[in-house]
Amino acid sequence: MLHRKLLAVICMLFLPIFVFAQRKHQAKLKHKSVSAVPAANLSLSFRVVPLGVLGGIDESNLSAYMIAPVGSDNYACLDAGTLHAGIEKAIENKAFSVRGDKVLRQYIKGYFISHAHLDHISGLIINSPEDSTKNIYGLNSTLEIVKTHYFTWESWANFADDGGSPQLKKYHYSVLQPGTEIPIDNTEMHVQAFPLSHSNLTSTAFLVRNKDSYVLYLGDTGADEIEKSQNLHKLWEAVAPLVAAGKLKALMIEVSFPNEQPDKTLFGHLTPRLLMNELDVLAQLSGTTLKGLNVVVTHLKPPYKSISKIKTQLNYANKRQMNLVYPRQGKPLEF
Ligand SMILES: [Zn+2]
Ligand SMILES: [Zn+2]
Repeated sequence: MLHRKLLAVICMLFLPIFVFAQRKHQAKLKHKSVSAVPAANLSLSFRVVPLGVLGGIDESNLSAYMIAPVGSDNYACLDAGTLHAGIEKAIENKAFSVRGDKVLRQYIKGYFISHAHLDHISGLIINSPEDSTKNIYGLNSTLEIVKTHYFTWESWANFADDGGSPQLKKYHYSVLQPGTEIPIDNTEMHVQAFPLSHSNLTSTAFLVRNKDSYVLYLGDTGADEIEKSQNLHKLWEAVAPLVAAGKLKALMIEVSFPNEQPDKTLFGHLTPRLLMNELDVLAQLSGTTLKGLNVVVTHLKPPYKSISKIKTQLNYANKRQMNLVYPRQGKPLEF
């Protein structure tokens, strides 16, 4: 009995010392390591409704992501591979409580086209007869292709305000200058464009801002080492301060093929290995570990076997403990 009491007293005496020592040890560890991405702004800033998420061949599910500030119905649409099928799926999932034509005509205030490959723009072309007046934003090189190859009166009627006559003037081409931020018409958001290397084409990254929060969306891109380019390095340099300050709420980036794809058949796309190499550069430039950063993985190319391989390889290679997100068509995400 006496023994037990004595033991309890000893325990109580030494417990605070033990706890103090532990805390000191943890503080030391924390000080030593590079910090994770700071959670400076914990409130949700953006709502993203994926209308299409794959990199081929399913024409009902190709790259297109609606984005708006949380609580707003004023969306921009990042790429427009699939519109109608994605809007219907989103309504099925109760992401919207209005009819599909209202989402297309009223909620989407403008399109941002990363490059003119059909899997990023075919939804916009096919839906154009039912659409309302709005802007199509892109780099000059992208909009030139849309102007001279799609809205031509040969591939399709010219619903735009430039190019082949007569011009139906439903869409206004709005040219983005790399590195210059502009407001997105009829929304609360701003955007800045950055060129990306995508085989023979220039693709685009869009940095979307809502107040003091950002989402970075990348169209198709290859790695700098394969493309013999500096474009991703320059992009990481530009967003590194936002990552360090905890202002980058999500990074949306493609991974099209598993690691087994030979370099010569990447056609300007990323694999899990190449993505992780690129994110090492971002980690280094931002002075953070990237732990907890939302990385939305887009543009996975079928077949299913290849998609599941990509996911396994990414999850295995995620030593930085980033929050890898695999978007699903019509399922809203909030950041
Ligand atoms: Zn693509
Ligand atoms: Zn492409």
